[in-house]
Amino acid sequence: MQILLTNDDGIYAPGIAALKRQIQDLGNITVVAPDIEQSGVGHSITFGHPLRVREVRLHDELLGYGVSGSPADCVKLAIYEIMDKKPDIVISGLNMGANVGIHILYSGTVAAAVEASIMGFPSIATSFEITDQYADVHDAAGAARGVIERIIKHKLPRGSLLNVNIPSRPSHQIKGIKVTRQYARDFKETFDKRVDPGGKAYYWLIGTNKSIHHEEGTDISAVNEGYISITPLRFDLTDTGLYHKIENWSWEGVPLTATNKKS
Ligand code: MN
Repeated sequence: MQILLTNDDGIYAPGIAALKRQIQDLGNITVVAPDIEQSGVGHSITFGHPLRVREVRLHDELLGYGVSGSPADCVKLAIYEIMDKKPDIVISGLNMGANVGIHILYSGTVAAAVEASIMGFPSIATSFEITDQYADVHDAAGAARGVIERIIKHKLPRGSLLNVNIPSRPSHQIKGIKVTRQYARDFKETFDKRVDPGGKAYYWLIGTNKSIHHEEGTDISAVNEGYISITPLRFDLTDTGLYHKIENWSWEGVPLTATNKKS
């Protein structure tokens, strides 16, 4: 089994190392990851400047390939240029921080898995909730391995995509696994406004994964309750309901030229 392992925290991040260690006997693993942290870059790609790839070694052992780009860049480069054989599965993570609710849209971890899915490969994004209570990435990677192994056993169809989130608690306190839907409502975010030594304002975005509204059956609720959450995702963003509505609006007679001419 050929496995492509990537992330958005960067090739030196603890999560990818812990996950690689836990899944190394599942197949032939190729690590292709950003050379610096790319959390929150979403599905960005690089086309205005070149991408560099370099072998990353630790004590003479090849850890993988560091790419000077985004997680989506890593998946494209890995599959088109770096791997000798196509992957049977693409795994992204283990991300330090849950990727649930609307955070899925900002996440580079999920974007890497989405990219693989677009390219027709089955993929799994894996993230570990970080709280001040508990954060043993090795335990979390062990739990992720159990889930990944089961997903592989069930044969994830071509191009399908699962978003897995592990709650931040000791493994014996994890209550089980729930298949969930994405929490798609607002969540609490604020800016912390500060003043720099020159007297000018600057801002830090402060967000939380704790939903304002509890909504049973969602990824956020499952993780908050201590369950591993598995959400099947898709990248077709078409709103079919709205499509049928606006299709019937009148589109006749819309002027299609500039009305304010240059003087
Ligand atoms: Mn990250």
